[in-house]
Amino acid sequence: MPPIAINLAYIAAAIFFIFGIKMLGSADTARRGNRLSSIGMLIAVVVTLVDQNILSYTWILAGLVVGGLIGAVAAKRVAMTGMPEMVAIFNGFGGLASLLVGWAEYDKINTLSWTKYAGEPHFTSSVIYLTALIGAITFTGSIYAWGKLSGKLGGAAIVFPGQKFLNGLVFLAIVVLGASFAGKPDLSCAYYILMTGLVLSLTLGFLGVMPIGGGDMPVVISLLNSFSGLAAAAAGFVILNNVLIVAGCLVGASGMILTIIMCKAMNRNLANVLFSGFGSTTQKSGAKTEGEMKPLSIQDAFYVLEAARSVVIIPGYGMAVAQAQHVVKELGEILEENGAEVNYAIHPVAGRMPGHMNVLLAEADVAYEQLREMDDINPTMPMVDVAIVIGANDVVNPAAVNDESSPIYGMPIINAHEARTVFALKRGQGAGFSGLINKLYFLEKTRMLYGDAKATVGALVAEFKG
Ligand code: NDP
Repeated sequence: MPPIAINLAYIAAAIFFIFGIKMLGSADTARRGNRLSSIGMLIAVVVTLVDQNILSYTWILAGLVVGGLIGAVAAKRVAMTGMPEMVAIFNGFGGLASLLVGWAEYDKINTLSWTKYAGEPHFTSSVIYLTALIGAITFTGSIYAWGKLSGKLGGAAIVFPGQKFLNGLVFLAIVVLGASFAGKPDLSCAYYILMTGLVLSLTLGFLGVMPIGGGDMPVVISLLNSFSGLAAAAAGFVILNNVLIVAGCLVGASGMILTIIMCKAMNRNLANVLFSGFGSTTQKSGAKTEGEMKPLSIQDAFYVLEAARSVVIIPGYGMAVAQAQHVVKELGEILEENGAEVNYAIHPVAGRMPGHMNVLLAEADVAYEQLREMDDINPTMPMVDVAIVIGANDVVNPAAVNDESSPIYGMPIINAHEARTVFALKRGQGAGFSGLINKLYFLEKTRMLYGDAKATVGALVAEFKG
């Protein structure tokens, strides 16, 4: 293929990526956006393989079929609650792929000899080292994050004395090795320096994720997603491939933006997520409470809901665990048929991944206009007859607005406590992700509907149906 055709195809792929990512911003266009991005990726992969004569057509086809099959099966089989884990694994392989590209390129140049190398040796060796470093951290970090999220490696933050010092030391060693490798890539011991840097980077991936609790893994995964993009961009500089640089930068930037959005929604900074040991087994705190949690029967809840004219449903992690979204939608429809205005209040970090509640409710076909963002719904909360809190805890904890001593003070919340009546659906006295006591449950206006969210909402639906 002539170079002009290759570059035009790469530009087309980049345009597909950019529009694809843009369309992911709304539930209406997200599916098309995803499809558009994958077409862009297909163009990029095929053009690259054809252009560079890297493989035979048989291998290209075999790779497409095997990779496509694994992707399709994984996408079909993974449960919505398992999505962050799958993203973690995919990030990890992205990092590994970039690492291998950097390593292979080093081997290639080494075999030909650096003295005959046509490019700029210091630049190339720097980006090779960067690719290996970021790719390795992304790989082991993502595998560990996957293990923590899935509970296979224990979700608790592991903290030990001198941990930050050790991590700092490993990082320093990686930087020093990198500087000497990039300075003299033609030295006979350069290969060993690269390998030592690689092993240390793999170790740092593990060490870095170790002090972070399972609940913070979605933020870490988003950060590692950004790293996998940076590793790919660095690999693009190694093999001078424009589309890899563009795609890598897009992933790197969007992953970083998402990480910052998630941190802001939790009112924490990235350093606090990465280094504070939040979610370690020892961390449990909370304010003193007055009063008691008052249970309510399904039948009494039905009477209240039957009379309600305005209802706001506030879903949280418990709704995802119970997979209650379909029955929740059914309840919403029944309440509307009964004359109530029904809205769903969506907190940006409700659940365990960004957009978790949007995805679940979209899966249940809840109308997009009914999903109201926090800033939009909060001013209306004092006029709401009943706020139904379904498996949400931290995202409705009033301590965030009225208790300065609370660790979550300042975190934006859905103001469920301002509604006239609050129904809280949860299984028992379990705390939320932060481990804090929630005074919302002890308010005079709050009634507890204990049990699995799906069963409780199902029972309310059955009561309405008579
Ligand atoms: P929480 O984790 O605060 O609370 C979930 C509640 O659901 C628990 O109190 C639990 O109580 C209840 N629950 C669990 N299973 C069930 C069930 N089967 N049926 C009914 N209730 C159930 O969830 P929120 O959504 O309110 O908050 C999310 C938290 O996660 C925030 O602290 C956020 O910062 C954090 N986070 C979110 C991320 C994201 O991207 N969304 C990323 C990282 C962290 P009980 O055991 O009594 O049933």
